[in-house]
Amino acid sequence: MIAIVKPSATPEQLQHFIRWIEGRGFSTNVSRGDNETIVGIIGDTTQIDPFLLESMDIIERVQRVSEPFKKANRKFHPEDTIVDCGHGVLVGGGHFQVMAGPCSVEGKNLLQIARAVKAAGATILRGGAYKPRTSPYAYQGMGEKGLDLLLEASAELDMPIVTEVMDVRDVQLFVDKKIDVMQIGARNAQNFNLLKEVGKTTTPVLLKRGLSGTIDELLMAAEYVMSEGNPNVILCERGIRTFETRTRNTFDVNAIPVLHYLTHLPVIGDPSHATGYTRYVRPIAYAATAAGADGLQIEVHNCPSEAWSDGAQALTPAQFDDAMRRIALIREAVTAEVN
Ligand code: PEP
Ligand code: MN
Repeated sequence: MIAIVKPSATPEQLQHFIRWIEGRGFSTNVSRGDNETIVGIIGDTTQIDPFLLESMDIIERVQRVSEPFKKANRKFHPEDTIVDCGHGVLVGGGHFQVMAGPCSVEGKNLLQIARAVKAAGATILRGGAYKPRTSPYAYQGMGEKGLDLLLEASAELDMPIVTEVMDVRDVQLFVDKKIDVMQIGARNAQNFNLLKEVGKTTTPVLLKRGLSGTIDELLMAAEYVMSEGNPNVILCERGIRTFETRTRNTFDVNAIPVLHYLTHLPVIGDPSHATGYTRYVRPIAYAATAAGADGLQIEVHNCPSEAWSDGAQALTPAQFDDAMRRIALIREAVTAEVN
């Protein structure tokens, strides 16, 4: 439920109203915009009589919010959230960033790939040190050593890193090592304990959509993180499972504008996992950009045929460089002022 406060309300009246609501066991989320102040009322609001609130002098209007996500909801927070990923890199609210790098951290080639993606314009380095693999016999990642390689590359190139945390027990390690952005992978999109654990930190979280996750489930996953106190969430559309078998997943381009409508959180697109094949990655990167994504995550490998995971969908540095030039043109078209 949201209460829109009259512009004439004094700060004292607003405080009094908030205390009254909180005294009834609800929590509040106050958003002060240029033209209006909105009080989000969080809790089982079925117990509140909206007419009673509307009868109060300072309340303009009361609206029931049917969506169960409150903190991620744009209705409570009309302005876009901008997530600070460190090293001066911001995502959201007009700040567009490309995260690129190998699927898995493999060793010394990380630095080579990192240099190439940075030269092409990527601003965040990606790479998995803990890999969620369908088969327990497939490569599982370098673990802590992989994090250290990412941190070395980050220091040398002055760029933030994004890397997946799979286990509640590793969250503290990621925090201690000052990992810039913790990725929650598609397979953990409903690992509620993990979501709550990263929610207790202040580290930005890149939250991927579940394999068969609906948009509402993605928003509720974000709500898990935010409800623990961490507001720094970036959402990622990475393709969903459909009846189609010609691609690894089906990129839901709809999700980008739909999420922008429903939430103030930044939304990025991952055309690599969405398609599974190098030949389709660039067109889908362009589609995501054109649909208004706040950024992209793209897998790049110096030698895709030798990659330890996801080589089939990796771009070479040259392909990535070409993609970045076209993405810049599309961004220009999408954000230009037109009369
Ligand atoms: C990845 O980023 O390498 C990854 C495993 O992504 P997803 O969780 O989207 O499959
Ligand atoms: Mn991958």
